[in-house]
Amino acid sequence: MKVFKFGGASVKDAAGVKNILRVLRKTGFEDTLIVVSAMGKTTNALEQMVHSFFENKEQFPKDLEKVREDHYHIIEDLFEFESGATKQKVNTLFESIMTFLKATNSNDYSLVYDQVVSVGELVSTTIISDYMKREGIKNTWLDARECIKTDAYFRDANLYWTDTEESVKQAVNGKSTIISQGFIGSASNGLSTTLGREGSDYSAAIFAYALGADSVTIWKDVPGVLNGDPRKFSDTVLLHQISYREAIELAFYGASVIHPKTIQPLQRKEIPLYVKSFDNPENKGTAVSRGKTLHPKVPCYIVKNDQTLLKLSSKDFSFMVEDNISQIFALLHQYRMRVEMIQNSAISFSICIYNKYCKLEPLLQALKTKFKVDVVDGVSLYTIRHFDKPAINFIKNKVGEILVEQRTTDTAQFVVRELA
Ligand code: ADP
Ligand code: ASP
Ligand code: MG
Repeated sequence: MKVFKFGGASVKDAAGVKNILRVLRKTGFEDTLIVVSAMGKTTNALEQMVHSFFENKEQFPKDLEKVREDHYHIIEDLFEFESGATKQKVNTLFESIMTFLKATNSNDYSLVYDQVVSVGELVSTTIISDYMKREGIKNTWLDARECIKTDAYFRDANLYWTDTEESVKQAVNGKSTIISQGFIGSASNGLSTTLGREGSDYSAAIFAYALGADSVTIWKDVPGVLNGDPRKFSDTVLLHQISYREAIELAFYGASVIHPKTIQPLQRKEIPLYVKSFDNPENKGTAVSRGKTLHPKVPCYIVKNDQTLLKLSSKDFSFMVEDNISQIFALLHQYRMRVEMIQNSAISFSICIYNKYCKLEPLLQALKTKFKVDVVDGVSLYTIRHFDKPAINFIKNKVGEILVEQRTTDTAQFVVRELA
């Protein structure tokens, strides 16, 4: 088997869906499991809907209507006069959101979030599977929730590997072309879960691991993995080969072209990962596999925006050592804060964090009862892998004020207050 993954950008409209078929016809679609994300910005729209459900009940049906209409338009573009049956299926999926929200009395934002947001992927795959059938490509639609088994840590669920492996094998057994969803799974209580934003790459890796697949290809709107995000850097270079280890590091530091959890399951079974352009499927793209660390060997630049820098010191002049630091980490864990970088000295402890779940305010209140806290919001974290002098100078000339700087043998990082 091989596994393909098409992200939101590749299925943002009818032309995108048609292009998937073009790619499949070029590459072949036998013995292929195809993982697809929600269409375009659907996940953001569904997130907004959850927000409305909790904050502004009147707005919420309007939000749903807009998402439904957007999908209907794509269906009409694809199926023209024969759009009825697919529209009906899609409508049933959207109605399941209403049914759930009317029945639930849960105040658990993350639980509700997963039940609503997971529908984006169910809808996109329903449309694509139907369209492929209409165009003569036989396929089986697989509900990923039947086989991607997780705990109930909603919005960032952890995988139950053994159960998942068995269920995937069973579900796929003997089928040739399968369409399934990225990003979603289910907990043992039957509720839907999600694997974290941009988690469809990870889903592809999970399926591949379970199947012992020959390869995974993720199809992107870029030629492959570049040495910097082309939206943020000009003159980027295509990386032809990256080792698993290097890809893990790049993704971990924030190279958002691959979800950070994707690589390790593939590395375990030595399944190669290809990152390729869905516009130019014949081009080689990037291979992540056993072999050279990085080819060509060039500095790689990664930027994470919207970070917060906290500088903590003790109120009673004690040093920032184990006792204080363990208290800080307990609170960071309690408020689900993602720590991106730390630096400590005798009397201060600096942390660059990402406020993923909007819990900065309560965290700060808790920290302030024990520590003196300085906060700088809206900073960026720049990372250079395999830096050299010109690369450091390039970043220093490009960015605003550098607040924290840190270097190891192969990685340099800067917390930066961007120029206004
Ligand atoms: P998907 O459609 O699979 O969700 P994404 O939008 O998540 O695709 O990922 C593709 C985008 O990742 C590109 O458009 C690019 O702007 C961005 N990106 C960030 N870092 C890199 C990098 N190092 N190489 C290539 N693309 C990158
Ligand atoms: N649809 C999800 C998201 O936008 C998962 C993914 O696209 O990878 O985050
Ligand atoms: Mg994405």
